[in-house]
Amino acid sequence: MIKLINISKKYKDEVVALDNLNLEFKEGEFIVLKGVSGSGKSTILSLIAGLLKPTSGEVLVDSKHISKLADHFCSEFRRENIGFIFQKYNLIPTLSVRDNILLPLVPNNLDEEVLEDKLHHVMKIFNISHKENSIVKELSGGEQQRVAIARANVNNPKIILADEPTANLDTKLSLQFIEIMKKLKSSNKTIVLATHDPLFFDLDFVDKIIEIKDGKYCANNT
Ligand code: ADP
Ligand code: MG
Repeated sequence: MIKLINISKKYKDEVVALDNLNLEFKEGEFIVLKGVSGSGKSTILSLIAGLLKPTSGEVLVDSKHISKLADHFCSEFRRENIGFIFQKYNLIPTLSVRDNILLPLVPNNLDEEVLEDKLHHVMKIFNISHKENSIVKELSGGEQQRVAIARANVNNPKIILADEPTANLDTKLSLQFIEIMKKLKSSNKTIVLATHDPLFFDLDFVDKIIEIKDGKYCANNT
């Protein structure tokens, strides 16, 4: 369960990004956060990931007070619970597919064998095994997106956060991405996806579409 309670977030004491926001997502739900650019979507995702602290209010994930954790506990929390998919993939272009996917596991000090198992498992699910040793910058956009999704899932997180994931994809790849999200949803992941891509507004496996406007929950949207 993810809860945002009376959350306000100001940047530099002046920009009000979120204004007394209350949201609650249940385990296994697929939530779409919609809203124009600047409405506060990315800020919400960063707060859930513990990448940002609210100015006031509380963020709870499975009754853990994320907004009160010290930074190194936040990193640990993220490593164990969160997979983040970014619009621009945030891959390291000069590294291979395998090295990019293994990156989140580096701090865990796992056995070589366990690492290889996890790597091959996600490469298979997201159909990128044949590019294991290719350098990321030489891949197509769709392939890079699948590497990013594999990386977000390599630690088998309960929660997937995706920020404008289809912004750089054509319609065909966006539809493939949606199929991948459907698969993740059916494996009981909680997914919070920020987007203004209309492709997400009419999907039968989306549990809730929440419109954010000027950092507030926009109630007249259903
Ligand atoms: P969205 O993801 O919906 O486009 P954001 O959460 O990125 O919205 O931004 C919400 C508001 O906060 C915007 O007005 C944006 O300009 C502002 N903002 C976001 N990040 C920062 C930052 N690091 N410093 C100052 N203002 C920011
Ligand atoms: Mg954003």
